[in-house]
Amino acid sequence: MIPRLPFPRKIPLARAGTPLEPLPRTSAVLGVELLVKRDDLTGAELSGNKVRKLEFLLAEAQDQGADTVITCGGEQSNHCRATALAAARVGLASRVVLRTDDPASPPPTTGNILLDRLAGATIRWISRPDWAKRNEIMEEEAAAVRAAGGKPYVIPEGGSNAMGSWGYVACAAELAEDLAALPARPSTIVFACGSGGTAAGLALGAKLVGLPERGVKVAAVNVCDDRAYFTRVITRICADMTARWSLPASIAPEELDIVDGHVGRGYAKSRPEELATIRDICRRDGLVLDPVYTGKAFHGIISELARDRARFGERVVFVHTGGIFGLFPAAEELAPVL
Ligand SMILES: *Cc1c(COP(=O)(O)O)cnc(C)c1O
Repeated sequence: MIPRLPFPRKIPLARAGTPLEPLPRTSAVLGVELLVKRDDLTGAELSGNKVRKLEFLLAEAQDQGADTVITCGGEQSNHCRATALAAARVGLASRVVLRTDDPASPPPTTGNILLDRLAGATIRWISRPDWAKRNEIMEEEAAAVRAAGGKPYVIPEGGSNAMGSWGYVACAAELAEDLAALPARPSTIVFACGSGGTAAGLALGAKLVGLPERGVKVAAVNVCDDRAYFTRVITRICADMTARWSLPASIAPEELDIVDGHVGRGYAKSRPEELATIRDICRRDGLVLDPVYTGKAFHGIISELARDRARFGERVVFVHTGGIFGLFPAAEELAPVL
């Protein structure tokens, strides 16, 4: 039995209860059992991990009487796209602050940007140096909403705060049930980490639902920054959750397994071998990964297993966090490996 948890109110937006599926041919090649938690199937347009966070965040926005949500991300942000679409679904306006090389000549309207535009999000382009001031810039947007008589609700980068991370406590509870239906074996839940909310929710959630006692661990493959950075960010989010909801579990920094060393050329930059992994997984098992998050993390898993086949135990449960729309803007880069 999974203990009852003090979930905050949420708006059901995700097609949750996502399947846990085998990757038979990749498992045979890698010599460990590989399963995929298909969180790319949380919705066609809302595909991926952000909608699970937005279920809780947009409920809080509604409860506060907001009429406009404001958030930020990279130019092809899955989080901004999911926010713009989910906001439209519940009748809220959206403003997204997107980072790009040259705000004076924004990137083409493709992939997630196309969906942002389709959903009616107001886009504010900012430069890479200005990204350091993203929270102030979102506050400027909030002030503009207030000046126009509206009520803003600001969501941090990636929806990664204490409220948003409940989405991945919910996923941990699903995984506990999924895994209870299978033969028990030492396993690790592995996924891409970009702003830390998924990792915070899964690490704390796993503990809350008793996964460690069943030999199940959690490991986050960072696709940007480094282990020290994410240890700080994730520990802080978990501490906020434990304090705010008086949870019977907490996460200490040394309990986190951040699988560093796989950022490669940098955030949203691919190496040919990462693109080749995306191709190989698709051809072998028909699973589509994205270049920015899931493909990079999966390539990290393969690299780790090549060094130490027991790194993650006998079973790897890869959480597919979505990102499919990021594949299309990478078409030219992918072409040489196809
Ligand atoms: C945002 C994102 C992640 C990272 O999740 P965080 O909670 O931000 O760490 C992983 N995969 C995809 C496809 C994403 O869009």
